[in-house]
Amino acid sequence: MDGVHEDVLGELRKTFSSGRTRGVTWRKAQLQGILKLLVEKEEEIFEALKQDLGKHPVESFRDEVGVVKKSATNALRCVEKWMAPQKGRMPLVFFPARGAVVSEPLGVVLIFASWNFPISLALDPVIGAISAGNTIVLKPSDLAPKCSSFLVNTIPLYLDPEAIKVVEGGKEVAEQLLQLKWDKIFFTGSPQVGRLIMSAAAKHLTPVTLELGGKCPTIFDTLSNSSDLQVAVKRVAGGKWGSCNGQACIGIDYVLVETQFAPVLIELLKKYIKKFHGENLKTLKNLARIVNKHHFDRVHNLLKDPKVAAAVVYGGSVDEKNMAIEPTILLNPPLDADIMTEEIFGPLLPIITLNNIEESIQFINSRPKPLAIYAFTKNESLKEKILQETSSGSLTFNDAVIQFICDILPFGGVGQSGHGRYHGKYSFDTFSHEKAVLHRSFLIELEPRYPPWNDFKMEF
Ligand code: NAD
Repeated sequence: MDGVHEDVLGELRKTFSSGRTRGVTWRKAQLQGILKLLVEKEEEIFEALKQDLGKHPVESFRDEVGVVKKSATNALRCVEKWMAPQKGRMPLVFFPARGAVVSEPLGVVLIFASWNFPISLALDPVIGAISAGNTIVLKPSDLAPKCSSFLVNTIPLYLDPEAIKVVEGGKEVAEQLLQLKWDKIFFTGSPQVGRLIMSAAAKHLTPVTLELGGKCPTIFDTLSNSSDLQVAVKRVAGGKWGSCNGQACIGIDYVLVETQFAPVLIELLKKYIKKFHGENLKTLKNLARIVNKHHFDRVHNLLKDPKVAAAVVYGGSVDEKNMAIEPTILLNPPLDADIMTEEIFGPLLPIITLNNIEESIQFINSRPKPLAIYAFTKNESLKEKILQETSSGSLTFNDAVIQFICDILPFGGVGQSGHGRYHGKYSFDTFSHEKAVLHRSFLIELEPRYPPWNDFKMEF
């Protein structure tokens, strides 16, 4: 085991034991520090995101800086309210007594971030951990190295360096960190690594939140109103290619549509791809880059299966030198091909046709529970059926991806897409222990609760 990480943990424990992270003043000062960092270092963040992922500053603001600003502002406004003990009415049998739920910080927490939104997926959980009064180790993903080094260099300038540490590194560093005893592990990443996190945590009985991924389906019902249809397809195109070029955990993975409606959907998707991103592979615009060669090869390999290649109805070209893959639409690729069994996490969009849109429910239910389901429909009974008969981390009607920024809703998976949740007050709860506190009085004493037992006490 690496002694450096033990020293880091030791220092954070000492800071936590000092009690200073528990006070509201410390929590607010750190949240203000995050807001200051976002304002003063915005250009550096945009530059790091451009270098790591080729994100346009507008996309970087919308998905990273703006998201974190919103979360920090909300936490700053609400943290005192979240910290206040929740008092409850006590049952008569306890009379006279008072009861409350008091949220206490867990201690030293370890946060793993993913590379696709390397700023927001690092800082958003940090905001929750700070609000709850914890000390923190953040491990950014090594696959976004500019953002990782930005975080390690900048966070100590704005946040309490004795309470919040950034540890850079890849798999080996992650494995070393996992050998230590943390009070909570918050992990964003793949289900494969999620399993390793959970088993490492089990050794110390450390609670975990797993924000994982999977295939997010979209149910696209027949929409007869042409302006609704345009908006719906625009939102599908945005939900597929508009956030990190399909490399998003809640990005649309595939679309389910009735057979006769597929040609209309495909034509409109082509229109919006051309409008948003252009047509020529060499001059594609407003698209984030595939993160690295490994992921380029992984996505490219999904297309290499001859039966999958035969299903391409738009796009399909790749530029190996620049690691670019065209936004690509496929119609009915084989359901047993990797593209339909693995998370795509890239710019390929399979469209699967069904005889009847209600079959989509059975289609989704025969696969692992998704992180998100999207359904474009105005049919209220179909909506109700989807709501009642499917299970997913979130369910969004008539839009995609946007649920991520809604702080009053919890964000998290179910089943294979993860467990636990965060955002807004849910982040505070995720990094807190809700302690049950009961204050009794000495005034009244019920003797039947004590031995010696007898028939009278049984009747009482
Ligand atoms: P990943 O699982 O490869 O890596 C995530 C983190 O785990 C990184 O910090 C990495 O350094 C670390 N890690 C990698 N291998 C490890 C090992 N063997 N032992 C311990 N730690 C290890 O995931 P990724 O490639 O960064 O992200 C893609 C996946 O994450 C997709 O499945 C995606 O859906 C999911 N994701 C989920 C969310 C969410 O909020 N639910 C957000 C973004 C991404």
